Amino acid sequence: MSTEKTNAHLFERAQKVIPGGVNSPVRAFRAVGGTPRFIARAEGPYIFDAEGTRYIDYIGSWGPMILGHGHPAVLEAVQKAAVDGFSFGAPTEREIELAEEILSLVPSMDQVRLVSSGTEAAMSALRLARGATGRSKIVKFEGCYHGHADALLVKAGSGLATFGFPTSAGVPAEVVQHTLVLDYNNVEQIEEVFKTQGDGIACVMIEPIAGNMNFVRASVPFMKRLRELCTQHGTMLVFDEVMTGFRVALGGAQSIYAKAIPGFEPDISVFGKVIGGGMPLAAFGAKRAVMQQLAPLGPVYQAGTLSGNPIATACGLATLREIRKPAYFEALSASTRSLLDGLLASAKQAGVAMVGDCEGGMFGFFFASELPQTYSTVMATDKERFNRFFHAMLDRGVYFAPAMYEAGFVSSAHTADDLRATAAAALDALR
Ligand SMILES: *Cc1c(COP(=O)(O)O)cnc(C)c1O
Repeated sequence: MSTEKTNAHLFERAQKVIPGGVNSPVRAFRAVGGTPRFIARAEGPYIFDAEGTRYIDYIGSWGPMILGHGHPAVLEAVQKAAVDGFSFGAPTEREIELAEEILSLVPSMDQVRLVSSGTEAAMSALRLARGATGRSKIVKFEGCYHGHADALLVKAGSGLATFGFPTSAGVPAEVVQHTLVLDYNNVEQIEEVFKTQGDGIACVMIEPIAGNMNFVRASVPFMKRLRELCTQHGTMLVFDEVMTGFRVALGGAQSIYAKAIPGFEPDISVFGKVIGGGMPLAAFGAKRAVMQQLAPLGPVYQAGTLSGNPIATACGLATLREIRKPAYFEALSASTRSLLDGLLASAKQAGVAMVGDCEGGMFGFFFASELPQTYSTVMATDKERFNRFFHAMLDRGVYFAPAMYEAGFVSSAHTADDLRATAAAALDALR
């Protein structure tokens, strides 16, 4: 057996011992084809594969690495925490500090509970919404991802207001029989569903800016109507901000909708990715009365051996303290805007139809002539063109997400030179 450390050799070896060679499916490059890069290390805005090739990283571990890789303050916090102990299974002061930090940035919540993954946080938020309302039905939107809990792995049924089908084997139809799947940004549909079933719906769960169908914003009129309907019917509006939280703005996507819709707040919020700064950490939170439904105070059970892990909380805290520094988000937003403008200008120069959108440190671009508003329009954009572009960029040292239905991320470690080099590579790749 060869011990040569090329990406191809490692992929071959990985496939023998790990299903598909990966521990999370999108990493396998199935959507775009080719050999996944095995990453050996990272530094600032760059990742380096097993062959020593450097890439400008626009995935950032799918969002968490907002400061870039190996930020000195975060590294120091993690190293110090490690010396004090990896895990205690008992409360620590650092968990309070992180909770206080999160709550000071997200005024819609009075309390948070820390968990270890976005999946766990979304699943727990769902149980909390059902427990607090005493209702079973839930609404989600096509194209939004909320982790891989059974009840949320659902696609739309055949007609409006019919319940969805599991998108994974191993999820019995009975388990998703309470999950309604609607079109994103469709006001009429949500009105129709609330008219007939509103009083039985525990919660509506949404990615306010969807990052799991590339980058699609919920329109302000849609969000406003959603809030009104939820309030009228005693349904909880659950914001899944695992991707957008502390990423599109310091106060998350909810702070952006609150500016457009006076008094706007979700009832429950779910966070992950950035709040762990690259360590397994996530959270969900709400007003005090709702959170007190959770064990040990209330009847809704939720627990975790590694929840509030001392090293993860140190990493998250150090990250949040950096991004809340004055002008941090202004600079990050300007970088992201400049990246997107550069890509769009390159496409235009090459005569290729491309559109895009961004907010804070998150962006998306489509090979299309109009920004998609729904899952089906995202899927109708030019996938073959994206796949060719993805590989052409990878060959030029730029690492975008390996699927056209994923958002991209800029970190504060990306320099103006990195952004310019990316636009230049794009022009070369598209010509
Ligand atoms: C990534 C993501 C999740 C799942 O988080 P994991 O940590 O991967 O379990 C849930 N919701 C959204 C919006 C996400 O982007």
